[in-house]
Amino acid sequence: MVKVLLIEDELKLAQVIVRELENVGYDVFHAPDGEAGLEKHHSLHPELVILDWMLPKRDGLDVLRQIRQQAATPVLMLTARNEEIDRVVGLEVGADDYLTKPFSMRELLARVHALLRRVELIQQTIQADFHPAPTTLTYGALILEPEGYCATLDGSPLNLSHTEFDLLHLLLRNRGRAFSRAYLLDTVWKESYITGDRSVDNAVLRLRKKLGLLGDAIETVWGVGYRWRID
Ligand code: CA
Repeated sequence: MVKVLLIEDELKLAQVIVRELENVGYDVFHAPDGEAGLEKHHSLHPELVILDWMLPKRDGLDVLRQIRQQAATPVLMLTARNEEIDRVVGLEVGADDYLTKPFSMRELLARVHALLRRVELIQQTIQADFHPAPTTLTYGALILEPEGYCATLDGSPLNLSHTEFDLLHLLLRNRGRAFSRAYLLDTVWKESYITGDRSVDNAVLRLRKKLGLLGDAIETVWGVGYRWRID
């Protein structure tokens, strides 16, 4: 069951939100102030947080900052109509979406569903990057057979290292998608990125050389990393 944490001090509103979310099948927990909200976030690890801006003990912004230091839990902020500037600050600090009071329950549910769906999609994509399906890929004269860890160019085997193969596989099956160095290092090397690490760049250089004329298909995306060209 998907856990949702509601941090809201207006008890009547909180009761309505809890009931509506429970009706559609969420497991809802309520905290009436910022302090209790942070404690519950820590102990429950909810999939989503609905966070009111004006709260006793710790305000919403403070709670959001604390949450962001520990987790990427999606946060939907609730703000009053006159807190326009706060809203911008909230998004900068890392709120994923916001809703202005008063709002309809239908609107709230739509936002909650959308946020959870977005997170699910991101997780599916990451899953697919780490555990790809063993489908044969071709690009011009290049053939990649992941099951046998076999790559050929014009019918001749390419001597690729394990990481070169995985890197090529990831780029080739996600043509047009740009990957950051940090993400590539995490997915292919299973290592954390430290600024200045050249592992990815060096591997790309080797790959381009081995791919000959097709090497140009690996494009540098300035300020980001690399992607496989779309023709
Ligand atoms: Ca409030």
